[in-house]
Amino acid sequence: MKEQIQSTFIDLTTIDAPSKNEGAISAYVTDRLEKLGLEVSKDQKGNVLGFLPGVGESILLNAHLDRVLPGKGHMPIIDGDVVKSDGTTNLGSDDTAGVTIILEALSKVQSEKITHPPLVIAFTVEEEIGLWGAKALDLTRHEVQRGIVYDNAFEAGTVVSRGAAYVAVDLELKGKSIHPGKDLSAGVNVIEIFRKADFPIGETDSGQTRINMGTLNSGTARNAVPDKLTAQSEIRSFLDESALAQTVDRFQRSFAQAAEKVGGTVTFTTKKLAVAYSVDPEEPLLKAYREVVERRGGKFEMKETFVASDANALRGERGLHVFTVSTGVFNEHSTEETVRLSDMELVTNDLVSLLELLGSR
Ligand SMILES: [Zn+2]
Repeated sequence: MKEQIQSTFIDLTTIDAPSKNEGAISAYVTDRLEKLGLEVSKDQKGNVLGFLPGVGESILLNAHLDRVLPGKGHMPIIDGDVVKSDGTTNLGSDDTAGVTIILEALSKVQSEKITHPPLVIAFTVEEEIGLWGAKALDLTRHEVQRGIVYDNAFEAGTVVSRGAAYVAVDLELKGKSIHPGKDLSAGVNVIEIFRKADFPIGETDSGQTRINMGTLNSGTARNAVPDKLTAQSEIRSFLDESALAQTVDRFQRSFAQAAEKVGGTVTFTTKKLAVAYSVDPEEPLLKAYREVVERRGGKFEMKETFVASDANALRGERGLHVFTVSTGVFNEHSTEETVRLSDMELVTNDLVSLLELLGSR
């Protein structure tokens, strides 16, 4: 099985797949799903959907097709059990590892004629740029309420217990430029506004929220008082909707008050890109998954994450009872990104065992 996992992983990873350019990788997974006997369609957003009839309640299996920029030119290197990048790009295993696990589990289920529940496969687009594929995923033709998202989060097999909300806040400060050698009272320095804004950076709300100021742009010349500053910030939080709204408000007010003091203005563009969610350890699919892990002598683990995934869209926003199982990818999005073949094999085998267990009930 390891050879098959390796070959599928290399096939997928060497296909260019930047967000919004998932055409080639969609064609590949469509072909694979059709060869495995699934009924395959594409929804309006471009997500690839596969259906395989079975017994009992339907299960959704999801992984995303797109990759962070550059999203292309990946040349994975096999180093024993470890797959790494050639150092010029990230590995691309986010989320080709997830796609590989689903395809190889289907392959085993089909070749060994394992009785399984009806399966709805959803390979989504545009996850990395705002979960747009999962948000628009058209499930109208399928009765499905439960499922698993395969994506990188923690050690292979670890379930994500909670996912944080994600709010993007762009701000623009405006002041008045003057020559710094002339009458300073005639100008309004935006850096002064920025310095006076009393907002927390990093952790706040007793560790429930994280605020990051990712980019700052200001100024035109050394010898001019800067009159404009733009910043891209983000707020990640486990807080509920109304408590989060208060934190976002507090953050924005700190700039508004500073602008008022110094004499400038501030405008905000706020976009909530992901809704927080939490997973109930007692829900049936999760209990079955736990049973599978423990039966093979593994340690069942759940951990919370500030990193958004399709589970935020499918569960947080759309109310489907999905949870994320970690694919075992490390240092994702960097040139140091790695994944172990044995980890992908482990998670694939767990999925096969889970489907077998559900099919026998
Ligand atoms: Zn991912």
